[in-house]
Amino acid sequence: MAAARTDDPTAEATDLLQDLIRNQCVNDGTVASGHENRSVDLLRGYLEGAGLDVERYEPQPGRESLVGRIEGSDPDAPSLLLMGHTDVVPVNVDGWTRDPFGGEVVDGFVWGRGAVDMLNETATMAVAVRRLTQSGFTPKGTLIFLAVADEEALGTWGAKYLVEHERDAVYADYVLTESGGFQIPTPEGPRLPVMAAEKGTYWSKLIVRGTPGHGSQPFRTDNALVTAAEVVRRIAEYRPETRIHETWRRFVEGMHYPPEFRDALLDAEHLREFCETLPLGLARQVYSCTHTTFAPTVAHGGTKTNVIPDLVELEVDIRTLPGQTAAEVDAMLAEALGDLADQVEFESNDDPSTETAVDTPLWESLARVSGRLVEGSALVPFVMVGGTDNRYFRRAGSVGYGFGLFSRKLSFEDYATMFHGNDERIDQESLALSTALWEEVARDVLQG
Ligand SMILES: [Zn+2]
Repeated sequence: MAAARTDDPTAEATDLLQDLIRNQCVNDGTVASGHENRSVDLLRGYLEGAGLDVERYEPQPGRESLVGRIEGSDPDAPSLLLMGHTDVVPVNVDGWTRDPFGGEVVDGFVWGRGAVDMLNETATMAVAVRRLTQSGFTPKGTLIFLAVADEEALGTWGAKYLVEHERDAVYADYVLTESGGFQIPTPEGPRLPVMAAEKGTYWSKLIVRGTPGHGSQPFRTDNALVTAAEVVRRIAEYRPETRIHETWRRFVEGMHYPPEFRDALLDAEHLREFCETLPLGLARQVYSCTHTTFAPTVAHGGTKTNVIPDLVELEVDIRTLPGQTAAEVDAMLAEALGDLADQVEFESNDDPSTETAVDTPLWESLARVSGRLVEGSALVPFVMVGGTDNRYFRRAGSVGYGFGLFSRKLSFEDYATMFHGNDERIDQESLALSTALWEEVARDVLQG
């Protein structure tokens, strides 16, 4: 670890990322996992060495988050939060070519779990904040750096906890976190997606009941497993309506697609059929961005081969679009199940979709700075089909985007495959771009 200021932020970001990867803050969803205090120790040493005071928050043993602040001179000026999570998801070592926690640098790529989700951003944010501190940055608006725990398990002991219990320490008018910023080539120059919205989750448990009986006499029995099979079939075949929401429309229009392709992507009436003709990966992405999705994922039921089951529990992963309410989703489920709806009990957990406007000073700043760093580029808004910690801040009132910058060495396909996948790695050019992005956006938007 570089103790003194170097003029090589890329080397510094590389060192820091390697150490974050080696800390193995693996979050398996249990409260005893994560051990993010290891990376908080690391980041505290790194930032305090530059003269930045930091606070630590530990709602559960080991589940620590770190906050560093450069206070602004004008309490009315907008504040900016740079937020990176320090936890990572588990690995299947068999699928990796290199040690997933080795943090090796090979041919300009840093390898390891978290290299793209999102220790790369956490490391580059820390480098940017350290450089700003050392330069004597005196912004009008406050700059906050948050290295947050537990993102990979819904933020229970991280962002959710901090927004609910330590709001004054972490809340900011503007929030930047994962993901986005990979370069999508177009004839008009690269387009950089900014995650301006994310789908919500509406995880549902469906309880299907029947009447027990002897497996040797199945004739005209009320078999919960047979009913559940039909419930699953109906959910899988359900065709929710297509929604061309604002974020999707702006994305498609910003991409400069050939007119026919563009029109097809905005045609609510025929988009589903159009998805049938697209390559599989693209089809799934387009479909998920424009539909409420229903994926039956878990079934538990039955007790013994010779007993007609009287209870089956199904779980369905439902993902909702911006603006969609619980009542709308319940109505869709009822429509999907038809005459079986009365025989099924529902238990659902609504974590609604969130979105942020795109005509904000933060958006303008991201556009200005990334336009300088990536020649000929322009931003396009995008809807993430998964969730990030941004939702807690958007609900609390922040303008929140998912962004970062990636070099052309990392395509969207690479990025999508490595997210929670095997052989996760990031090139050092991308680390340099992101470090410059955070530093310049902080200067631009906080008017230091
Ligand atoms: Zn992440």
